[in-house]
Amino acid sequence: MTAPPAAPPMAATEAARATAQPAAGDRVWTALDLLRWTTDYFSSRGIDTARLDAECLLAHALGVDRVRLYIDFEKPVSTEERSGFRELVRRRGTDRVPVSHLIGSREFWSLPLFVSPDVLTPRPDTETLVQVALDQIAVKTPLILDMGTGSGAIALALLSELPNAHVVATDVSSVALAVARKNADVHGFADRIEFREGSLFEPVACERFDIVVSNPPYLAEVNRSQLPPELDHEPDVALFAGSDGLDVLRGLWAGVADVLVPGGVAAFELSSEQVPAVSDGLRDAGLADVTCFRDFEDRPRVVAGRKPAVSAGGV
Ligand code: GLN
Repeated sequence: MTAPPAAPPMAATEAARATAQPAAGDRVWTALDLLRWTTDYFSSRGIDTARLDAECLLAHALGVDRVRLYIDFEKPVSTEERSGFRELVRRRGTDRVPVSHLIGSREFWSLPLFVSPDVLTPRPDTETLVQVALDQIAVKTPLILDMGTGSGAIALALLSELPNAHVVATDVSSVALAVARKNADVHGFADRIEFREGSLFEPVACERFDIVVSNPPYLAEVNRSQLPPELDHEPDVALFAGSDGLDVLRGLWAGVADVLVPGGVAAFELSSEQVPAVSDGLRDAGLADVTCFRDFEDRPRVVAGRKPAVSAGGV
């Protein structure tokens, strides 16, 4: 593997242009020049979202949003601004630190959320779970349980859409809950969400909810070595769940009927190959209408089921 360039802009990769420009140290670099250079560099490092990452990092280094970056494409970027950007590019390209950690935030469901290495960075595919939950909610004042809330992304997205909803959000990690609390405060939802620390149903024993959602850890340990290097920067506890990735989902499907009201719905995110196991698990636990939903890339990624309105025992 070739060593990464020490820092953008590098005359070597811009050789053709450099001949027509002042020496590398003196040349004027516009935002567009930097974006082009950085996109090529990230692509050469195998980063799929090279252009988007370059834009996010440059906007952050310049203290502007991405729209402003577009407007000011031709504006020269000062040496000082470039040096801050250079460090971000290095950490992204060489250490594969996720962009969300470098800029400290990530947008989810149009909500800018704080993220840190203590929480899973919210992914766009998890918006599928939010949409499924919204489509299933049949009551006007739903009480929602979000298990393993992490940054609070799912809970806060639901609160932003459901003005009469309340959420109990749990996590095994106290540091994750601190991030989620901060996000709830910033978005003005603190009075409609309660945070509780603990594993699985422990923090909500004997309570009943209209809907239970979770994006639990579901990656299989056996696949660890094939996963993108960015995952090394995220908490294991939010990602991995035993050799087949089902350790936490097993606990969820086994216990969820006990915390749902009759007619209540459970919806869980998972990986496509886990759909049969989780669907069977939910059916065995007594849930009906077990259905699988696809994400925006058409992969089956969410399984939902409903607790029958009248239980088998007729109570
Ligand atoms: N969807 C995440 C990923 O593939 C994993 C999230 C999870 O385990 N809940 O990186």
